[in-house]
Amino acid sequence: MNLDLDALVGDIAAEMSEREERGAVASYIPQLAHVDPRRFGIAVMLADGTTHVGGDADEAFSIQSISKVFTLTLALGKVGDALWRRVGREPSGNPFNSIVQLEAEKGIPRNPFINAGAIVVTDTLLGGHAPKEAIGEILRFVRHVADDDTIFIDKAVARSETATGHRNVALANYMHAFGNLEHAPELTLGVYFHQCAIAMSCRQLAAAGRFLALDGRHPTAGGRVVSSERARRINALMLTCGHYDGSGDFAFRVGLPAKSGVGGGILAIVPGKASIAVWSPGLNRVGNSMLGALALERLARATGWSVFAP
Ligand code: GLU
Repeated sequence: MNLDLDALVGDIAAEMSEREERGAVASYIPQLAHVDPRRFGIAVMLADGTTHVGGDADEAFSIQSISKVFTLTLALGKVGDALWRRVGREPSGNPFNSIVQLEAEKGIPRNPFINAGAIVVTDTLLGGHAPKEAIGEILRFVRHVADDDTIFIDKAVARSETATGHRNVALANYMHAFGNLEHAPELTLGVYFHQCAIAMSCRQLAAAGRFLALDGRHPTAGGRVVSSERARRINALMLTCGHYDGSGDFAFRVGLPAKSGVGGGILAIVPGKASIAVWSPGLNRVGNSMLGALALERLARATGWSVFAP
């Protein structure tokens, strides 16, 4: 394919910067409400490491739920398929912070990417550790897969969510009541709020996701982050569950495994070809980046990238 990716990402960034309708910045975590809605960044990192960036691709933002991809990877490494006794693998069809499904399904969250499921995943990472150690392990892992030791946790965002994350407190307590949380809710949530507060730029996030485009191989260190089977399964979950109850529409429009976060970031994977990160803080009605999804739709159409294409 004769494609000028620099020109393409530049065009996409230019188009997105002109758009008036940008969605609403998340405000239920007060610290996120301060982010400028006009920001837009994109980074496309090809399998060979060549990177094409546009807009604010080097500005760090709060990755929020995109962190769930990394904690899921770590938890599967730690407890393997036993994880699936505590969390399901089906799209939820419900908002990311919904509590209703949990009652009907007896404290077993639908999938590891809704908040309840991610809290269970984080609970497995706490096993035998103090929260501080678990937070350190998650940050070290993200730095390792991105090959970048400058990635950090934004403490102000973590504090802000700790002070206001009442719905997550409710979810954690509810699962505890069903016996699906092994640690005290405040300990597990302490880790969860910190993983969500990891800050990364689009360039760093695309680098961190590259192992999923490489069938589980570490891009630079040699060896594997996960087996190819596991990488494929994580990608499958991203496709089916990565955008909450907007996952079907995202798959229809973009056709790539991807995970969104309420900070406005999206990590998308083109197996064998590329890892892509986009960031635009304004969210659509189901809590996914409005322009981030549009930018990925433009990129997928222009490149022909899709998991449904040969
Ligand atoms: N920390 C956020 C929460 O638990 C993550 C949600 C998201 O990014 O979708 O509410």
